[in-house]
Amino acid sequence: ANARPAYDRILLKISGEALMGPGQFGLHPPTVERIAREVKGLAALGVEICMVIGGGNIFRGLQGSAQGMERTTADYMGMLATVMNALGMQAALESLGVSTRVLSAIPMAQVCEPYIRRRAVRHLEKGRVVIFAAGTGNPYFTTDTAATLRATEMSCGAIFKGTQVDGIYDSDPKTNPDAKRYDRVTYDEVLQRNLKVMDAAAIALARDNALPIIVFSLDAPNGLAGVVQGRGKFTTVE
Ligand code: UDP
Repeated sequence: ANARPAYDRILLKISGEALMGPGQFGLHPPTVERIAREVKGLAALGVEICMVIGGGNIFRGLQGSAQGMERTTADYMGMLATVMNALGMQAALESLGVSTRVLSAIPMAQVCEPYIRRRAVRHLEKGRVVIFAAGTGNPYFTTDTAATLRATEMSCGAIFKGTQVDGIYDSDPKTNPDAKRYDRVTYDEVLQRNLKVMDAAAIALARDNALPIIVFSLDAPNGLAGVVQGRGKFTTVE
């Protein structure tokens, strides 16, 4: 049997692009299912799981505003994109038998529940995976900030940020074979050196609430359950 995981409750943040798989846009069902299996593997250990999924595979506010759209309108479109991704992930999890709820920061009663903190806590206590959709509900924010906010509200032990690389490097490991991976970095180092982990607002919020951010690769099979138990490669921002 596995040792008891170090965390009772965590938040998994993935970008919208993580759902694209080999595609250039939208959701790639086999990729969504693969990630859902990772979540199922972690849930089987008894860890309570929150999720925040970005929307960049469908729409980004900055992209819209660069094309002349009002920024706030473009950001609402981005938030709606995250609701679509949340529903896609919910469907994949439920097809694997994992009970889930989608809670949206922008109420849309026919589609999912509204975000109510105490209700979210109750779902987690009942063993349901809670997917937080529509970011913070406010323009000019990102889903990284939403993830940090929700993780703090839910008293998560850490945010696990699944990416395409197994941590934070001093230079891009895809182009520099000598790039060095950090085991741990401080919030201030991330901000000062402008390391690409999360945007500055998200890092500062995590720092102010002493919420560790663990960056790991989503590509390794069973990587999520392993990393939550402290195995494998990852970088901790703390
Ligand atoms: N967004 C927003 N407020 C939030 C979260 C997201 O306005 O609290 C919008 C913003 O336009 C952003 C888009 O939703 O570009 C998609 O989110 P994000 O870029 O964080 O997705 P990711 O890069 O993680 O796929």
